[in-house]
Amino acid sequence: MSTTPEILPRDAVAGLPAYAAGKPPRPAEGLTPYKLSSNENPLGPVPAAAQAAAEAPALHRYPHPSAEALREALAGHLGVPFDDIVAGAGSLGALTQLISAYAGTGADGTGDEVIYAWRSFEAYPIVVRTAGAQDVPVPVTTDGRHDLQAMAAAVTARTRVILLCTPNNPTGPALSHTDVVRFLEQVPRDVVVVIDEAYLEFVRSADPVDGLALYRQYPNVALLRTFSKAHGLAGLRVGYSIAQQSITAHLRKVAVPFAVNAVAEAAAIASLGHIDEVHQRVEEIVQERRRVTAALAEAGWNIPETQANFVWLPLGQGSLDFAEAAGVQALAVRPFAGEGVRVSIGEPPANDRFITLCTTYSGPQGAA
Ligand SMILES: *Cc1c(COP(=O)(O)O)cnc(C)c1O
Repeated sequence: MSTTPEILPRDAVAGLPAYAAGKPPRPAEGLTPYKLSSNENPLGPVPAAAQAAAEAPALHRYPHPSAEALREALAGHLGVPFDDIVAGAGSLGALTQLISAYAGTGADGTGDEVIYAWRSFEAYPIVVRTAGAQDVPVPVTTDGRHDLQAMAAAVTARTRVILLCTPNNPTGPALSHTDVVRFLEQVPRDVVVVIDEAYLEFVRSADPVDGLALYRQYPNVALLRTFSKAHGLAGLRVGYSIAQQSITAHLRKVAVPFAVNAVAEAAAIASLGHIDEVHQRVEEIVQERRRVTAALAEAGWNIPETQANFVWLPLGQGSLDFAEAAGVQALAVRPFAGEGVRVSIGEPPANDRFITLCTTYSGPQGAA
């Protein structure tokens, strides 16, 4: 009997970590289950966006290959040239365009370097290594912040891209505009600096990053934005990048055509058309975030300052135990073994139950 030989992928792919998506909650007797594991918007999209999706145009027709109508709507909404916007299937699609255009394996067989903070968004190593590039993770500080000095010091002649995530997923803190400007002044002008602003709308800090001002001033800056979080359209997969045309011209070449589907495009445009309602919903979540973080502080938890729609519990070795205790309460949270637990801000009753869990939790390292 012959055995089927394993068909091996490229070396870069063989060593990739698997993306661990947030799990759904387990049912528990008498408890409404809540998913607090994927930073989704618990309030969902605005009604007009849901309606636009339901009434989406002819499903047997291809959408516009580069989502022209969406880009036009965004250009008007943001006050940027239409050609500075490149859409993708989620901002992950847009990030993949940036990495595949700017980082890969050099002619000598070694990977271009891509620097990012770590722990940060778990998709980064996957996208970077899949492109054949070399990831250079720079540890975040103990309070979950990017160590911009260390990141600037990590730049070498091989560095092609730097990813900044603000607010940082999963730890929560946001960068300040002043800090990012100082950083950009230290970075060579031929290194692309991607600023991932997935949680932009939730930021309430002093001196928030003004991404649009940065991209106008620095030709090597690209912004990443998404309809998945504030707009509540994660299920439709639509996001985009904003950069000067010296960058977007190349992104257009590597972009998967038709990446934004017709339903997603229609819903995203409708959501932009009701931006006040979107901001109202975001404000409700920000208020809930304030309530949750105040209750945790009251209960003696010491957690990094969050500017996003989630909190980070730095539980270290106690992370999986805490996630298990949450699971028993029908709350799905996102543990990172040995590091911490990320918990999304959900609907008020979900947050109530999470607060109760935190105030009564007595597991190992319960109060960090
Ligand atoms: C959720 C998230 C995104 C959004 O990804 P989409 O592909 O747009 O759904 C991007 N970056 C970070 C850091 C995120 O947490």
